[in-house]
Amino acid sequence: MLPAYNIESFSDFNKPETDAAMRAALAKAKSELGRTYPLVIGGEVIQRSDTFTSINPSNPSQVIGNFANGTAEDADHAIQVASEAFKTWQYVSVEERARYLLRAAAALRRRKAEFNAYMILEAGKSWYEADIDTAEAVDFLEFYARQAVRIADESHTLAPYPPEQVGYYNIPLGVGAIIPPWNFPTAIPMGLLAAAIVTGNTVVFKPAEQTPLIGYKVAELLWSVGLPKGVLNFLTGPGEVVGARMVTSPLTRFIGFTGSKQVGLWIYENAAKIQPGQKWLKRSILEMGGKDAVLVDETANLEDAAQGIVQGAFGFQGQKCSAGSRAIIVDAVYDQVANRVVEIASKLTVGSPDEGNHINMGPVVDQEAFNKIKDYIEIGTQEGKLLLGGQPIESPTNGYFLPPTIFGDVAWDARIAQEEIFGPVLAMVKASDFSEGLRIVNSTEYGLTGALFSNDRERLEQARREFHVGNLYLNRKCSGALVGIHPFGGFNMSGTDSKGGGADYLLQFTQGKSVAERL
Ligand code: NAD
Repeated sequence: MLPAYNIESFSDFNKPETDAAMRAALAKAKSELGRTYPLVIGGEVIQRSDTFTSINPSNPSQVIGNFANGTAEDADHAIQVASEAFKTWQYVSVEERARYLLRAAAALRRRKAEFNAYMILEAGKSWYEADIDTAEAVDFLEFYARQAVRIADESHTLAPYPPEQVGYYNIPLGVGAIIPPWNFPTAIPMGLLAAAIVTGNTVVFKPAEQTPLIGYKVAELLWSVGLPKGVLNFLTGPGEVVGARMVTSPLTRFIGFTGSKQVGLWIYENAAKIQPGQKWLKRSILEMGGKDAVLVDETANLEDAAQGIVQGAFGFQGQKCSAGSRAIIVDAVYDQVANRVVEIASKLTVGSPDEGNHINMGPVVDQEAFNKIKDYIEIGTQEGKLLLGGQPIESPTNGYFLPPTIFGDVAWDARIAQEEIFGPVLAMVKASDFSEGLRIVNSTEYGLTGALFSNDRERLEQARREFHVGNLYLNRKCSGALVGIHPFGGFNMSGTDSKGGGADYLLQFTQGKSVAERL
């Protein structure tokens, strides 16, 4: 008997003992930097001399670790091993599989500060953002453990038919390719892995190139609770080599991917091509980008709206799929809201997050992201009025620091109002009224998250119907979905409409089997 699911609480870094624990974890993580990490296939540790480095984006000369440059052959080998392991793992009872997740959740809860430290150093997360990520990973483990038991046997949904004893079971698919991004480097891999494994699949897991240490630690945590060898295989290397092979292998049965639209579309297309020897249609579970909007009308609590816009736009430097990178404000209150947004954002502290919890915004993740965001800022200066930020922040360590950057008077169809920038850049767009605002909201190719600040009951109802996003928030910020409370995932080019942390999510990792026995 399991206690009811409850979300994990966040750490309170204002408590001296929590602050001290976080500093100790950071010191320990720093003392372990620069190690070399292997591939792990079927429990076998495979060292490689051909490696790539992961760096600290606050201090790019600091090497976090060296990781094997896996090859397409490694991917083939790992998928083969996972296929072997599937022969037995698929028949392990769901209760037993769920217990691995529950033990992993308990272990992660105990090691929270340690995982936070890895994310502060390797991903440039603030303490607060790192802590949210770890808590979400705990939640996925706890939530999917319960959901797997709930959905395994759905015979109770069938109509009685006395001549037969009938049953309906959600059985696993096979080998999954698990390909996450770097921006929630603990929670997203943990969620994908937990969902796939608890439903009886075996996996090959390739973390993003920017955060392989955290990926390794996630895998290690799951191995540490005793998962049989071959159930979770760990590969590092370039996405377009290792990840691509994981997608195209004829032995891969499904792909659990979170990342950019561009790579998601490539996977969607290539997973659909039948390879020689392939016996099934691959399933693609794809969570992709967003260009999320916060709409504010003249009836709104304008202070709440301004706070919500800033939090949504600049949390984790705007590097969230749920980042509210567009603020659409009706004319009547545009100046007031815009001024207040700039005022609040100008107080955000930017710096190396390992210094302490007072840093609100760390660096962006790497040189490529830094360059791309700078290019968009350049485009923004042509498309709108620069109200805040714009220039990179110099640091003695040459970290990838960009300030909160805000453009005002941006046209709804400008590039910075339509394309995902994935950085601390906010486009503010003026709408003549609520109706036009709602049209602008729905004008991008994405449909992930969005928020409306309004006190008009009819408009709130209209937004419920017409604001076309997977995650709509009324009178609150557009980021910060909680597992089991806000099932998460978007429409249109934001993905395949799956809902992480929702009751139906695990069904995507299974196939239904109807069994009838004539009595
Ligand atoms: P990305 O698409 O560049 O990379 C994601 C993963 O795909 C990485 O592990 C990468 O190595 C791998 N990859 C790259 N090329 C590949 C290929 N050809 N075949 C197979 N795998 C390949 O994305 P990113 O920069 O890591 O993450 C940022 C993106 O993720 C943003 O667009 C963001 O909106 C999106 N995201 C979406 C959600 C969501 O839930 N919808 C959540 C987080 C992030």
